[in-house]
Amino acid sequence: MIAVHPIQTGVVQIKSRQTQPRHERREPRVLDVLFDRQWTRELPISAYAIEHPEGLIVVDTGGDTRVTQPGFVPRWHVVAATCDRQSLTAQEEVGPQLRALGHDPRSALKVVLTHMHSDHAGGLAHFEGVDILVSEREAALALGRMGPVNAYFKQHYPRWFAPTTVSFDSGPWETFDASIPLTADGAVRLLPTPGHTRGHTSVAVESGDHLVLLTGDATYSEELLLAGAIDGIAEDARAHRDSTARIRELCARRDVIVVPTHDPHGAQRLAQRQFTTTTTKEQSDVRR
Ligand SMILES: [Zn+2]
Repeated sequence: MIAVHPIQTGVVQIKSRQTQPRHERREPRVLDVLFDRQWTRELPISAYAIEHPEGLIVVDTGGDTRVTQPGFVPRWHVVAATCDRQSLTAQEEVGPQLRALGHDPRSALKVVLTHMHSDHAGGLAHFEGVDILVSEREAALALGRMGPVNAYFKQHYPRWFAPTTVSFDSGPWETFDASIPLTADGAVRLLPTPGHTRGHTSVAVESGDHLVLLTGDATYSEELLLAGAIDGIAEDARAHRDSTARIRELCARRDVIVVPTHDPHGAQRLAQRQFTTTTTKEQSDVRR
């Protein structure tokens, strides 16, 4: 069976309205987040280690200790600078934690970035020399001229960073119109889940008799997924709804453990093999 280990790299607090938006259109939605005075509880910033017979696959690289330094997040980007509080120690970064699990980060087979926001691409420095995969669209948006406006701060990526871009050209898979296998056996597969960012990717892992779905920020929690909620800073609300509908449909079709990056109960569900079903909606104890 292919094992998936969650690695928590510190915590983040975001504005409550980022998890409970009141507007569909992006501008009022983001302004609402900006002026919200309520913060969520501390949420995990997760990365994942997939132990596949071909080698170690790391999904997201978690946070960057430098985030606590003043000026690290440019002040002109008011939303990024004032609506996101991260904290982590050097020992909590993904590199030391992978070593504690017995893996040399530089020997990883591949790193997949669900998207390139700082709490997902923050640990890139630990993976020099490793093949780093990003969807073609995400890489173009993050590294393009408008990247910083959309909270992609390229100055934080290592200088050697030159990702391998992937396009989802392997046709439909389950409830998705497009996908691409990452391993020869197809057990690890990348799925397009745009919405939070336009080039967002999720990772499906066949783990024995069930699927583990690493959804990055396609949704912030299982509860929000089941409620059909979008997120307060999602770049594309319509795409967000489409992506999460496909994820819910997949959960109806198969035994799936959905594990979003910032879900306080994601690691627990993974450890306890708790599948995501529409009936868990009412029982969920994620309350903010
Ligand atoms: Zn994000």
